[in-house]
Amino acid sequence: MNPKNNEKETTTSKLLLFHKMEEQKRIVFGALAVMVFLVAAVFCYVFIRFHSIDQQMEELRTQTKETLAQQSEYQVVESSSEDETLAGASEEELPVEETKKTVKKEDEIVDDVRVYLTFDDGPGPYTNQILDILKKYHVKATFFVIAQENEKYREVYQRIVNEGHTLAMHSYTHDYSIIYASPEAFEKDVLDLQAFLYDRTGVTCQFYRFPGGSNNHVSTISMKSQLPFLEEHGIEYFDWNVDSMDAADPSEDPDTFIAHVVENVCSQPTSIVLMHDSSTFTTSVDALEGLINRLQTMGLRLLPITEDTDPVHFIEKKKSKS
Ligand SMILES: [Zn+2]
Repeated sequence: MNPKNNEKETTTSKLLLFHKMEEQKRIVFGALAVMVFLVAAVFCYVFIRFHSIDQQMEELRTQTKETLAQQSEYQVVESSSEDETLAGASEEELPVEETKKTVKKEDEIVDDVRVYLTFDDGPGPYTNQILDILKKYHVKATFFVIAQENEKYREVYQRIVNEGHTLAMHSYTHDYSIIYASPEAFEKDVLDLQAFLYDRTGVTCQFYRFPGGSNNHVSTISMKSQLPFLEEHGIEYFDWNVDSMDAADPSEDPDTFIAHVVENVCSQPTSIVLMHDSSTFTTSVDALEGLINRLQTMGLRLLPITEDTDPVHFIEKKKSKS
């Protein structure tokens, strides 16, 4: 073997190895460079992001401070306004005195309010239920009754009397065409009912309510012309100044019924409330317990009609009592 050839081969082989190593070195450096670049890029991204978040947080902090400052400023203004209001009011000496006066006035009205619950057209299927409720709340009322010849109602008249209510007259027949046919027919109707009630209870009734009221427009006779007859027989008549609307609007729900009656009785010292205990109108019996509860809670006096009660008249025999 030629030593020169051998040396040449060795040199070539070394060169090849050198080139190979150079190439690997370049690959490794390249990879490192890429890695460094990626790390740098990630670092830059994180840095920029962090900086951005930091800026946002700073803005939020500033906004929060401004909002808090505005709120506290607003509260100061508000409390100042209240102080001014109170100060101004106190200077004018209005609120405390006025409040006391108003409360006192309301108390006076409530103390003086008398409410007479009156039931027309009974006895009917709900009269005993009404009497039970009145008994439960220790309330006395007035019943303007008709002549129920059905024996099942016989004891109801007596119960009304026995339980301290006022038994009063409304009509024997409650038939307008009969009652108001003539003055004689009217007088007969009243006297027949008075006799009927005396027979049932031993009580001679003194109080009367014209069917339809003393100003009704169905009568063919003059109501006014009948007043001397009532007076001769010692009979006082009562209209009403609070219509519960149980007959006028039978579909009214109990809450509306109560609100309506309460509003009216609070507006005057004496209220004679028109209700019914017939079979036709049931709102009064449905709402009675709630109504009594409400009126008693308000401290109003619920009374039966007596000879001391100031009557309510739609028509007057005399122009003025005074
Ligand atoms: Zn009636």
